Amino acid sequence: MSRTGAWIVTVGDELLRGEIVDSNKSFLSERLLQLDLESTRHLTVADDPEAIAEVLRDAARRARVVLVSGGLGPTRDDITTEVAAKTFGRALLRDEAALAEIRGFFERLGREMSPNNAKQADFPEGADILPNPMGTAPGFMLDVEGSLLFFMPGVPRELYRMTDEEVLPRIRARLGGRGVVRAALLRTFGMGESTLDRHVDDLVRDDPDAQLGFRTQFPDNLLRVVVRAPDEAAAETKLAALVAQVRERLGELVIGDGAQELEQIVGAMLLERGVTLATAESCSGGLLASRLTDVPGSSAYLLAGLVTYSNASKIRDLGVPAALIEAHGAVSEEVARAMADGVRRLTGAAMGVATTGVAGPGGGSEDKPVGTVCIGLSDAAGTLAFRYQLMAERWRNKQMSSHLALDWIRRRLLGLEITENSFPRLRGEEPRP
Ligand code: ATP
Ligand code: MG
Repeated sequence: MSRTGAWIVTVGDELLRGEIVDSNKSFLSERLLQLDLESTRHLTVADDPEAIAEVLRDAARRARVVLVSGGLGPTRDDITTEVAAKTFGRALLRDEAALAEIRGFFERLGREMSPNNAKQADFPEGADILPNPMGTAPGFMLDVEGSLLFFMPGVPRELYRMTDEEVLPRIRARLGGRGVVRAALLRTFGMGESTLDRHVDDLVRDDPDAQLGFRTQFPDNLLRVVVRAPDEAAAETKLAALVAQVRERLGELVIGDGAQELEQIVGAMLLERGVTLATAESCSGGLLASRLTDVPGSSAYLLAGLVTYSNASKIRDLGVPAALIEAHGAVSEEVARAMADGVRRLTGAAMGVATTGVAGPGGGSEDKPVGTVCIGLSDAAGTLAFRYQLMAERWRNKQMSSHLALDWIRRRLLGLEITENSFPRLRGEEPRP
């Protein structure tokens, strides 16, 4: 039978009960991808000998590589090693070198080794033992008629290190000659996933060695670019070329590297340009200032952040004319403009930014339903404000208001136009990147 792909098997009742999140699976799949090895099954089994045996038998028959996490500990419910030995008809043998290692581990901690721990030095006959510098349970590899099975402890930090230092090099050595995979992550804002996909999918449609993947990290969409090539240099070149094409297609909708949050991107830009900022927030309730100050060193550019939640505060603290609020309401482009101007005047910042809106769930009206949000910006070049229709959920409205304000700052600093159409998704329109 020809075997393909990798199966990942996690063992533990607590995983099936939902008590802990199975983060080992995503870690392992991500690592295998780097070797161009696709994870074709994710399985979780109870601490039950029958169940573990059944999955191991099946996996060894059908998968090229099997990664097993959990159940290597010293306690009675840790049965993976015994079950593996039995399933593949191998004797359990004590490894004296591994036993000495485990003893040494306890000595270094100044603790006595309990007799239970000795069983962690037992391995199925023929196993290749994988050292565990972070804990007591070594892992091991079994070659079952060409299927490579790796058994690792469930504790994430132990598994991570063992994967990188022991498992991946063995897989690479055994499967050899496969391609190299490289990936990049881009952060985009302002366009939905399916529309994004439509704008770029032809770039990879005819190339089996290139893929684009999307996932949401509200309110941004992350775009993952993955390429495969015969060697590292070719993979890097191919990746750079594809990333450049994607960036060209999506233009200003790409806000930066996927690993960076918008506030980090904006913070770096303000710092680099020496532009100072002050915020006047209503509907975002200080979230904008909070996000800006999540970035270390933000005191270099953020002068002040005011939460002017009441009309009285907008009038008293920002100098918004009472008549303006009376005429247009606190949630209006006119008031957003006056807030941005006011906070800039008050603080002497080079740029003032304001949010005012109906976060919900109450407070909406016919012409200003829940989710109506106005953003305002004021700097030496002028003052502008626009109104958007966001969603129905309070938390999302706060988040999105602060996000829009941050993206306005980014656009202003880059000299990009800010219009009502800057965020096509918010208007339910076809974007024009
Ligand atoms: P130990 O020596 O700690 O018993 P072990 O190899 O027997 O190690 P488990 O008992 O299965 O591993 O798991 C130990 C701990 O590691 C769990 O309590 C849990 O906190 C964490 N863990 C186990 N499996 C996973 C997983 N798939 N994803 C994330 N965490 C896990
Ligand atoms: Mg355990």
